Amino acid sequence: MKRKSLKDVSRFLEPYRITRGKRFRLKDHDPGDVGGLGSADKPEAKRLLTNGVERLAELQEKLYASDQWGLLLVFQAMDAAGKDGTIKHVLSGVNPQGCQVTSFKQPSQEELDHDFLWRSQRAGPERGRIGIFNRSYYEEVLVVRVHPQILAGQKLPPRLVGRRLWDERLEDIAAYERYLARNGFPILKFFLNVSRKEQKRRFLERLDQPEKHWKFSPADVRERGHWKGYMAAYEEAIRATAAPHAPWYVVPADQKWFTRLVVAAAIVEALEKLDLAFPKVSDAKREELALARAQLAKE
Ligand code: ATP
Ligand code: MG
Repeated sequence: MKRKSLKDVSRFLEPYRITRGKRFRLKDHDPGDVGGLGSADKPEAKRLLTNGVERLAELQEKLYASDQWGLLLVFQAMDAAGKDGTIKHVLSGVNPQGCQVTSFKQPSQEELDHDFLWRSQRAGPERGRIGIFNRSYYEEVLVVRVHPQILAGQKLPPRLVGRRLWDERLEDIAAYERYLARNGFPILKFFLNVSRKEQKRRFLERLDQPEKHWKFSPADVRERGHWKGYMAAYEEAIRATAAPHAPWYVVPADQKWFTRLVVAAAIVEALEKLDLAFPKVSDAKREELALARAQLAKE
């Protein structure tokens, strides 16, 4: 591979970016895809990732300084697809003060006393920041859809739980994302697309290495038994909510180095599109600065 910058990598992104869901089929996406690169390209890919992380840090500083836009990154995946590692590596260079990470677990009693978007709305990023959702409101059309007993525990008035419930939730999510985008908070959604086979390999690795035992939960193997149900739910969610202001990236996740590269490139590209710049200093402010300088010099 020739030396490239992350900008060139943008063209890699196209096959993975879904902005219109109508024709989307998960089966057209290979979890093992590495964008035509081979293992010989790994060092170059690592260099690109390092550049990407640096570029991200610069862009994030401008995002913060201009204090207008906010960016929401949503990470969804089956267990062991690499959400945590991707978040850690891709955002490693970004000033922690400019990031707000939230991991969404089973809702608390207080959260169940509200509508399903309530907790997300509270956790959303401020202007100037990057919000990272490790799992998200999408769980409401994924795990809840796969396990009807979770829905039964949601205290919904029975007459509101009809056959169209999942379509209604997806409509509400799409409307919510449009609302956020119209307020200056575009959204990038990443589905880390790991294969069932690679998940098994990673689970076994966790079981075989004592220092990885903490990462393993027997529930993860149970969820694996619902693979088909999850894939169907993901496909429907992506079809119903992909939009130019809130694209889905279906990121091949069997090769971690490639996953990270695609995610970094997508975030860099999204921030570049915002045409961020440091705020212009007014004439009055410039005069103030000159005065301060003169005062300090006199001391
Ligand atoms: P890791 O295992 O890497 O620490 P994780 O995201 O898998 O990260 P866990 O604590 O293992 O974290 O799992 C969180 C669980 O909470 C997941 O099984 C997820 O499906 C579930 N969850 C998240 N949101 C909801 C929701 N709205 N309703 C029901 N379950 C949810
Ligand atoms: Mg888990």
